[in-house]
Amino acid sequence: LTVLGLESSCDDTAAAVVRRTADGAADILSSVVFGQADLHADFGGVVPEIAARAHASKLDVAVKQALTEADLTLNAIDAIAVTAGPGLIGGVMSGVMCAKGLAAGASKPLIGVNHLAGHALTPRLTDQLNFPYLVLLVSGGHCQLLIARSATEFMRLGGTIDDAPGEAFDKVAKLIGVSQPGGPNIERAAKTGDATRFQLPRPLLDRPGCDMSFSGLKTAALRARDALIAAQGGLQPQDQCDLSAAFQSAVADVLVEKTDRAITAYLDVGPRSPAIAVAGGVAANMQIRHALENRATDRGLRFVAPPLALCTDNAAMIAWAGIERYQLGLVDDLTLAARPRWPLDTKSAALLGSGK
Ligand code: ATP
Ligand code: FE
Repeated sequence: LTVLGLESSCDDTAAAVVRRTADGAADILSSVVFGQADLHADFGGVVPEIAARAHASKLDVAVKQALTEADLTLNAIDAIAVTAGPGLIGGVMSGVMCAKGLAAGASKPLIGVNHLAGHALTPRLTDQLNFPYLVLLVSGGHCQLLIARSATEFMRLGGTIDDAPGEAFDKVAKLIGVSQPGGPNIERAAKTGDATRFQLPRPLLDRPGCDMSFSGLKTAALRARDALIAAQGGLQPQDQCDLSAAFQSAVADVLVEKTDRAITAYLDVGPRSPAIAVAGGVAANMQIRHALENRATDRGLRFVAPPLALCTDNAAMIAWAGIERYQLGLVDDLTLAARPRWPLDTKSAALLGSGK
């Protein structure tokens, strides 16, 4: 089964060809990603209109390149999967229109995929993880703890009530004068920093449940910065390193402790081979990755972290999610609509423990 996937929900235009082999493993035959960072650089964030125009002009180039690299023609593809949401509506629409054109033109089945399901199912693409597994999705725009029960059932145990962690890394970098991209550069600065010099909060750890908050952490970093400016007129490189280390440790602590609670809820479901996966750009952070891995191991869970290129936005994960849906007989038709909002959870966490 060979599926062409398309992704255009944010600022990456991507196309990929993925084949599911007879033994259930996956072969990524190609995965093309065109970033748009340079187009949005002057605006300090993604501009939806610019993104949509860029997707519209780049999607067919990405598709052509993905087919060429896979050494296949469109005729040899079994189905076309596309991100139908959630995301920026203009970009999602561009992708859906492109996929509809290809599906209609080549008489192939069309499959609409939830972008977050793409992220959450990636551990099955890379490591053939069995359901149910726990997944922590931490990226620039999202932060969720989910139990993946099947390709179509995700139970949300908690998530951020304000900023996503990646967003917090980027904002704190800006505040303390560390250059963008904030995530990797804070991680680099933190290596020579003393995490104990500044006492930053661990938001919401005093409250039950798996919800998280990162915006207070950002404010605390701002206050520490202002205190330094008042006392010594500015920030020395060592101050930046110490603040980076303190911030990174606080994020890691919050993620680990909230994940620990999610593990308890997850183990209640009685998984046969308990496993946890991380996904999203923040999963690239080694301190966070190791801290999660240690806790997962302590609690007897297998830990899976896909390669970074499959953690950040890509179309291989969309093609794979398409394969999963196709195998369940879930195919769409040309009325498939773009959905700017599309929550992933299909079951309330309240059902946990009832075995439902
Ligand atoms: P989404 O996928 O939620 O729509 P996005 O596409 O912006 O959002 P990703 O591409 O998954 O998110 O990840 C980008 C984010 O990950 C950025 O906020 C970046 O700062 C963060 N990030 C990348 N590398 C690291 C790192 N080493 N440490 C911490 N954060 C990182
Ligand atoms: Fe994403």
